[in-house]
Amino acid sequence: MHRLFVAIRPPEEIRDLLIDAMDDSPALRWVGEDNLHLTLRFIGEVERPHANDIAAALDRLRSTAFQLRISGIGKFEQRNGGALWAGIEPKEPVAALAAKVERACQQAGLEPERRAYHPHITLARWNRRNAEAVEAFLRRNADLASAPFEVTSFILYESRLSRHGRHYEEVAAFPLG
Ligand code: ATP
Ligand code: MG
Repeated sequence: MHRLFVAIRPPEEIRDLLIDAMDDSPALRWVGEDNLHLTLRFIGEVERPHANDIAAALDRLRSTAFQLRISGIGKFEQRNGGALWAGIEPKEPVAALAAKVERACQQAGLEPERRAYHPHITLARWNRRNAEAVEAFLRRNADLASAPFEVTSFILYESRLSRHGRHYEEVAAFPLG
C-alpha cells in the first residue's frame, strides 16, 4: 500500500522564512525543511493501480497559477497535543485548487472528503505537557508574514515512515497553467 497526499511545496525563500521562525524550544517537534508543505488533499493508503488512476485524474486537472503569501500562525489541538502552523492568504485560490483536486480524487474512485478544508503549513507538533512553549511561540510569531510567492505546480506525495522518521517522496508534479 502507498500512503498518498496532494500538496503545494513552498519555494525556498518561503521555506527559509519558516525555518527562521522556528526556535530551539525542545518542547516543540519542528518539521524538517524537506517536509514543509501545504496539503490540498490527504488520500491515505491505496494500492498501486489505484494510485496510478489518481495520478492520471490529477494530470487531467486544469487550473491556473496563482499567488499566495504567508500570513499569521495558529495551532490545532487534538486530545494530547496538536500542531503549530503558518497560515496563508488569500484562501480562495488554494481552496479552489483543493476543490478541483477533490473532484479528481472522486473521479478516481475515492470517497469524498467530509471534513472542512483549512489550508495551513504545519511547522511543529506539540504535546499537551508543553502548552506554555506553544503559547510563547504563538505570541512571538503572531505577525509572521511573507511577500507573495507564485504557486506554479502541485505535487502528489507518498508519505513513508522509516527509522529516520516521516519522509515525503514526490511521486509526480503537475504544472499549473
Ligand atoms: P505523522 O502522521 O507520522 O505524524 P505526518 O502527519 O506528517 O506524520 P501523514 O500522516 O502521512 O504524515 O500525513 C501527510 C499529510 O497529510 C500531512 O500534511 C497531514 O497533516 C495530512 N493528513 C494526514 N492524515 C490526515 C487526515 N486524516 N485528514 C486530513 N489530512 C491528513
Ligand atoms: Mg499524520
